[in-house]
Amino acid sequence: MDFSDDQIHRYARHLVLPEIGEDGQARLLAAKVLVIGAGGLGSPLLLYLAAAGVGTLGVVDDDTVDLSNLQRQVLHDTSSVGTAKIESAAARLAEVNPEVKVVRDGARLTAGNALDLIRGYDLVADGSDNFPTRFLLNDACYLAGKTLVSAAIMRFDGQIATFKAHTRAADTPEAQPCYRCIFGDQPGDPKQSCADVGVIGALAGTMGSLQAVEVIKELLGIGESLSGKLLLYDALGATFRKIKTKADPACPLCGPQATIRTLDSAAYLEPVCAV
Ligand code: ZN
Repeated sequence: MDFSDDQIHRYARHLVLPEIGEDGQARLLAAKVLVIGAGGLGSPLLLYLAAAGVGTLGVVDDDTVDLSNLQRQVLHDTSSVGTAKIESAAARLAEVNPEVKVVRDGARLTAGNALDLIRGYDLVADGSDNFPTRFLLNDACYLAGKTLVSAAIMRFDGQIATFKAHTRAADTPEAQPCYRCIFGDQPGDPKQSCADVGVIGALAGTMGSLQAVEVIKELLGIGESLSGKLLLYDALGATFRKIKTKADPACPLCGPQATIRTLDSAAYLEPVCAV
């Protein structure tokens, strides 16, 4: 593609990287990424994806900005308290990079709308704050054949992994697990993941930024994928640990005897609060 003078200037630090260059930047500009949640993880994730020139960013969030969000949700500011997060996010992202198209969706992600929401995107990034949404997105992405980059934070601990079990070859049955392969069934008590336990704000920045890097790597097909791995960050210990993960042959979603063929709303618990 032909870049304008402004684009050559704006993306100069990408264009000089052999792993990105003009071809990679053109791919980013053509890419469509759906981000679930414009909160702690979604803030750095969306800011860096917009700055990188990812051409279309879908943002799904049904929440409004609360004063208690501002400790970590750097996409929003004090003047946006009380406004819809998708509006606050879209305004900020337009300031960062006006050539990025931001598609706002103020719906709550449900089993009824998940497949429709993700259909038009190349890749999905989960910045949600609860187990029901993580399981629902995992199932929806697998059924729709979309790669999912998923991160989570709690207290001083973060984790991130990429899931693309839909690309697993028949001769590599242990490769590329889905979220269910690693985390089993949905916890019976969705409160386990919720706000009362607290989180150090800057941890959202670390993990959301890692998520942005992994999204860009997947879009460009560069580097080592986090599929089949789980990267754990212990902020208090100042350590990262990467562990290998395997597909579960008994997985009800991606195993040979899979029973989950569609999204059934009764199968996903309702989250009761937001981090
Ligand atoms: Zn699985």
